[in-house]
Amino acid sequence: MPVIFEKSGCGRSAYPMPEWKLDDADPIPPELLNDGVDLVEAGELDIVRHYTALSRMNFGVDTGMYPLGSCTMKYNPKINERVAALPGFTGLHPLASRGLSQGALEVLHGLSGLLCAITGMRRFSLAPAAGAHGELAGVMVIKKYFEKRGERRGVILIPDSAHGTNPASVAMCGFETREVPSTSEGDVDMEKLRSIVDQNVAAMMLTSPNTLGLFDRNTPAIANLLHDKGALFYCDGANLNALLGVVRVRDLGFDLMHINLHKTFSTPHGGGGPGSGPLGVCDELEPYLPVPVVLKGKDGFHLEYDRPDSIGRIHSFYGNFLVALRAFVYISMLGSEGIRDAGETAVLNANYLLSLLRKDYNLPVDRACMHEFVLNDKNMPGGVTTNDIAKRILDFGYHAPTVYFPLLIPGAIMIEPTETETREMLEAFAEAMIAIKREAETSPETVKTAPHTTPVGRVDAVLAARKPVLKWEP
Ligand SMILES: *Cc1c(COP(=O)(O)O)cnc(C)c1O
Repeated sequence: MPVIFEKSGCGRSAYPMPEWKLDDADPIPPELLNDGVDLVEAGELDIVRHYTALSRMNFGVDTGMYPLGSCTMKYNPKINERVAALPGFTGLHPLASRGLSQGALEVLHGLSGLLCAITGMRRFSLAPAAGAHGELAGVMVIKKYFEKRGERRGVILIPDSAHGTNPASVAMCGFETREVPSTSEGDVDMEKLRSIVDQNVAAMMLTSPNTLGLFDRNTPAIANLLHDKGALFYCDGANLNALLGVVRVRDLGFDLMHINLHKTFSTPHGGGGPGSGPLGVCDELEPYLPVPVVLKGKDGFHLEYDRPDSIGRIHSFYGNFLVALRAFVYISMLGSEGIRDAGETAVLNANYLLSLLRKDYNLPVDRACMHEFVLNDKNMPGGVTTNDIAKRILDFGYHAPTVYFPLLIPGAIMIEPTETETREMLEAFAEAMIAIKREAETSPETVKTAPHTTPVGRVDAVLAARKPVLKWEP
């Protein structure tokens, strides 16, 4: 498809500009007067058709099922957008006075309270702008906590099933990562863990449920083991969707956690747009939270900056406000019963889909799953790989699952249907996956050369990563 510049026709425009009389006293720079600036010249209809066509080449949750494991691509209710577009919120300047900002501060305070109720943590900071940013802030809190206690601890433990952002956050704060192996059943190996937890371990980061979509049955035992040695227990809560309203993370023994509002609490994500990764902590870690924190006093809400033990500022102003607002609307609309229903349905949907697929796809760890599950391409006929399956499913009108992650499962296919898909949609997706398996048996070439119906066919992924074309050259 041509870019809009290629559709530019001399002299066309979408609107008339007011006539501008040149004034000698206020000359326009000559480089702006000649033809040096390459602007598009197109009529309104050309522009509308161009961008409508582009939007139809895209895929999103509003287009079809998006079972991207570990990403919780649930439907984002439009009511969230309505509220986030209210001029009272969009027009509020972050430097506006406290008196003029009471509504916005109340939203932040209210959301923080709801997150505390859901997780059992003492207080949340809404400043982090993504899950990875929440982790970073969390590891900074861990560091500050031990500094204050005058303890030198240099190691943070991470299971081999962890998300790649975990070791990155650890390394950025100057800690050393030590990997903890999993058992063949997908839990942390307790024998191994016991042998490595010592006085040099500051914390362990555990994704709960883990990236295999499994609840680690040893979680309370891990908490006890760490706490006995004076270490902290961090929950990567990006998969909180599975636990919503059923279990509070703090009750499992975790001391601090981050949540991905853009996953669990239904705000749009993908494409690197604004996210929010609030950091929640228990009583003991509360003084170290980033500044500012939103507090409620006798005369309304205010931002508190005077917190001597804080790790400091980690974002301009106080985070991505409109993302927090959407999450606030979503949680308030669902209420406590709706929240629990969302979590339970997410788990039910994943287990139902798993039951439909397990005859045709290999299931490396055979256990009831939480909100997602991991298959792989072992024993696929015709030399068909995970990558081929992910490409072929696009022809059926679905987004591909997460592939080749987590790393400890070779050829992983990680599927997260979320609670927002209907039974019919789950069955249709399963039928498509099974049809691909049949094709692998009868005409593997069809799968290996897919996709066949998308605007762009199979790209050379290595070339695209190594030599990206980021600029249009006329
Ligand atoms: C998505 C995810 C992250 C990172 O979140 P971002 O918002 O992309 O930075 C971290 N851990 C887990 C388990 C995740 O699924």
